[in-house]
Amino acid sequence: MKIICIGRNFVDHAKEMNAPLPKRPIFFLKPDTAILRTSNFYHPKFSNNIQYECELVIKINKVGKNIQEKFAHTYYSEFTLGIDFTARDLQSECKKSGLPWEIAKGFDSSAPLSDRWLKIEDYKNEIQFSLTKNNQTVQEGNTSQMIFSFNQLICHLSKYITLKKGDLIFTGTPSGVGKVDIGDTLEAFVGNEKLLKINIK
Ligand code: MG
Repeated sequence: MKIICIGRNFVDHAKEMNAPLPKRPIFFLKPDTAILRTSNFYHPKFSNNIQYECELVIKINKVGKNIQEKFAHTYYSEFTLGIDFTARDLQSECKKSGLPWEIAKGFDSSAPLSDRWLKIEDYKNEIQFSLTKNNQTVQEGNTSQMIFSFNQLICHLSKYITLKKGDLIFTGTPSGVGKVDIGDTLEAFVGNEKLLKINIK
């Protein structure tokens, strides 16, 4: 199982990162050891600026390569929410030096994931999601604001990487990313339904 993450898929987030809008989806991978299935995230000592990025996550349900956009919807039927934790200080150093970001993105427990999966068919064209930090809303997103749709992402990714059953795609974060500190609590919602709670320890 692999985890593919999309960068800069919301205009407002690209702007807050002072990054240009992508012409094609930007992606990177996290190892399976990044998945965190408990509600406690232990702040790593190697970073002083771990930031949350709340994202919709889709699960691939069959193997596929070179998937046409018109068939992409048949490759996933469920979604949930996850956090793409990012060591922003390490990422900035990598970017400055033109180096890969894996150290900032792929560390252990950097991908908390809800254990509740929702059916895509229950949502028409739009999925609304949000994140609170210590009960204050910090991120709000909607699939209608995505630069590249789920189907476009699957079409693009599968040109380069064979997608397999169980693979996860983190589909990008809206604006409002920010730092977490020990003692903070993050809660992620689809509509009004809480799917994920993470305590920073
Ligand atoms: Mg992200």
